[in-house]
Amino acid sequence: MDKSLARSQGLWEERWHPLREEWVVIAAHRQHRPWSGAMVAASSPTAPAYVADCYLCPGNARVGGAANPRYEGPYVFTNDHPCVGPEAPEVPTLPPSPYRVRRADGLARVLCYSPKHNLSMAEMSDEMICDIVGVWRQQTAELGARAEVQHVLCFENKGEVVGVSNPHPHGQIYATNFVFKTIEQELLASRRYLNETGRTLFTDIIAAEQAEGRRILYEDEHVIAFVPYFARYAYEVYVTPKRTVPHIFALRDEETQALARALKMVTVRFDNLWRMSFPYVMALHQAPTDGGDYRTFHFFLAFHPPLRQPDVLKYLAGPEIGGGNFISDTSPEAKAAELLAVSTTHYREWRNEHDSKRA
Ligand SMILES: [Zn+2]
Repeated sequence: MDKSLARSQGLWEERWHPLREEWVVIAAHRQHRPWSGAMVAASSPTAPAYVADCYLCPGNARVGGAANPRYEGPYVFTNDHPCVGPEAPEVPTLPPSPYRVRRADGLARVLCYSPKHNLSMAEMSDEMICDIVGVWRQQTAELGARAEVQHVLCFENKGEVVGVSNPHPHGQIYATNFVFKTIEQELLASRRYLNETGRTLFTDIIAAEQAEGRRILYEDEHVIAFVPYFARYAYEVYVTPKRTVPHIFALRDEETQALARALKMVTVRFDNLWRMSFPYVMALHQAPTDGGDYRTFHFFLAFHPPLRQPDVLKYLAGPEIGGGNFISDTSPEAKAAELLAVSTTHYREWRNEHDSKRA
């Protein structure tokens, strides 16, 4: 392909991911290539607010036999199928070197966002989202203070395409005896950047986004949300306080409220994009809780949506799984423009407005 033709058909370059210290190949010039792969079925239009056999709804029995209380706000309980936990068995035999093994110590909890089975973050009020942020703060502080816990990972897997069988909006909290690899990598990158430049990496990322401006989805005095320049997923979005704090519990009240507003704005835009409940993996990037000095680590949330089109998944394949670097078929600027073009009122409320007008 000659170079002018490639340019006319879209972005084709490599962008440096400063937090992961790796290249992302942006190959958006070939995004119109014919697709004959799997289709993801659209999710059912409306679920009821309460489902009798849902193990997360208030008052219902869970698999372990315990019953949920009739909770009214966010509700946290210990995962009935924990990946790490105090019940993990002692390791019976040690493997030969270089192999290592140890007990799967830690705590795994589930966070129901609200008693309503059909209320995702996108349709919650700012106040309800603020309550969820409050739980992340409280859980990170409580679990992080435990001697065996090195790091607290709060996250949400949303949608069947990321393997969630129960649609009741909920997140998870893993308090582990190790620090997750992504956080370790970000710590190393931030330290290296500070040593080389004397500046905080994430502060400079925010400044670079502000300088260009076109990938910013939301901004106020305290927080900013944007599709990063180096996005690996088509609709990847970072939501972050502007002030550098290593953990979510260090946020001030006004920053917590601003964060809730930004989360609302981002999730509404996601749902409005294709008028469907938008699937994603969302994770809080927080510093370890092992007592180290992490004053230069900048807390943020990252959304990683798996869909490139309403029914087309981004597959992790040779380059991503085999090689460890991402090939992105989309331009971050074009995807940010799509998200900016949609309404900031959730589409289900449009229908209600239309209905009420008809009535
Ligand atoms: Zn439920």
